[in-house]
Amino acid sequence: MDAAEMLFENNPLSVICSLVCDHEKQCEGHCIRGIKGSPISIGAIENYISDSCFDRIALKREPKNGMKVGVIGSGPAGITIAILLASRGYMVTVFEVKDKIGGIMRYGIPEFRLPKSILDRYYKRMRELGILFRPNFAIGGSLSIQDLFKDGYKSVFIGTGAWRPRHLNIPGESFGNVHYAINYLNNPDVYELGNDVAIIGAGNSAMDVARTAIRHGSRNVTIYVRRDSCSASADELQYAQLDGVRFEYNKAPTRITDDGLYICDTHQDENGHTVLDEATAKFVPASTIIISVSQVPQDRLVNRDKELQLNEKGTLKVDQNGETTMPGVFASGDVVTGAATVVAAVAYSKKIADDMDRYMQSLPKDGQ
Ligand SMILES: Cc1cc2nc3c(=O)[nH]c(=O)nc-3n(C[C@H](O)[C@H](O)[C@H](O)COP(=O)(O)OP(=O)(O)OC[C@H]3O[C@@H](n4cnc5c(N)ncnc54)[C@H](O)[C@@H]3O)c2cc1C
Repeated sequence: MDAAEMLFENNPLSVICSLVCDHEKQCEGHCIRGIKGSPISIGAIENYISDSCFDRIALKREPKNGMKVGVIGSGPAGITIAILLASRGYMVTVFEVKDKIGGIMRYGIPEFRLPKSILDRYYKRMRELGILFRPNFAIGGSLSIQDLFKDGYKSVFIGTGAWRPRHLNIPGESFGNVHYAINYLNNPDVYELGNDVAIIGAGNSAMDVARTAIRHGSRNVTIYVRRDSCSASADELQYAQLDGVRFEYNKAPTRITDDGLYICDTHQDENGHTVLDEATAKFVPASTIIISVSQVPQDRLVNRDKELQLNEKGTLKVDQNGETTMPGVFASGDVVTGAATVVAAVAYSKKIADDMDRYMQSLPKDGQ
């Protein structure tokens, strides 16, 4: 139990990170045992400890301090902030546009990699910490951040992630046989992909799309990669290959039609940029095309609260304390960094929880 409590204190999403992190690039990649042989299986050990004790860990909670905090979004960033601030005595309310908590961990990462029941266990433990939830409710619609301050919230956290798919900017992208990865993974059951699925993109999301399509019955699933290697982790690439996904390297789409797409060869110029050899474009039949070339933040909150500013990449502008351009409003996770990882969102949010705590403790006490 002590080990589980240490892991939870260091990373409240330890159970999840033990399953979805790229351990080879992170903990296991830094293990010195790996220099001459195999690294310690840190992911598997962490999973055993954290998973078997998660429901029994004694949650510490300081007495209520009467200060309300609004958390917008319940992905890894929002969950981390909510748990840390609730254990320090703040009264936390989480606003979530979806019906359940988890963000991309629930509505992006497939069940075969991360069982959703883990997120239900988080919900239960967070309720034990006194955290309140408003599911199916988007801030930026009927209520704005300003409305939360009017109601006495002392600080607001934005952890709304990056959910607007990047597009390819080629003809045909609006056709009915084309979908974006983040939309497909949200609820794969409602899509009829057919047998021949072409996927554009080579990151972990593309691997998730391909493996999900195969599990939903598509027989010929091909990933088209612009360069000669994938950006997905070595493990995810290997699992996709084992599942029977085909890979075509140095290829890019130029145009989508109702029955497939035109694919051309690519090469890298002297600066390492990918160049399309459009004259080589050939038609490839496909029943469905899924575009998986990352996401950027949506702008619902920024459109509603004009004080919030974005930087040139389209992510929220924050200072070194994670405070946005709107006083008392903090942010972290993908909405600030752009599409990243679960552990990056947790690590960043741990720091922001300290910054928010410091900020709220420095406010004049009510009635003074
Ligand atoms: C398909 C896919 C697979 C991935 N696989 C991995 C992996 O294996 N390992 C890994 O480490 N990372 C993975 N990632 C990346 C990782 O999931 C993200 O970096 C991480 O979830 C970001 O956390 P977040 O809390 O910033 O945002 P999110 O997880 O995106 O959560 C944001 C939440 O805010 C809610 N929201 C948005 N706007 C509003 C609003 N106005 N009001 C209320 N709620 C709102 C959203 O519904 C969502 O629940 C993957 C990403 C994708 C797309």
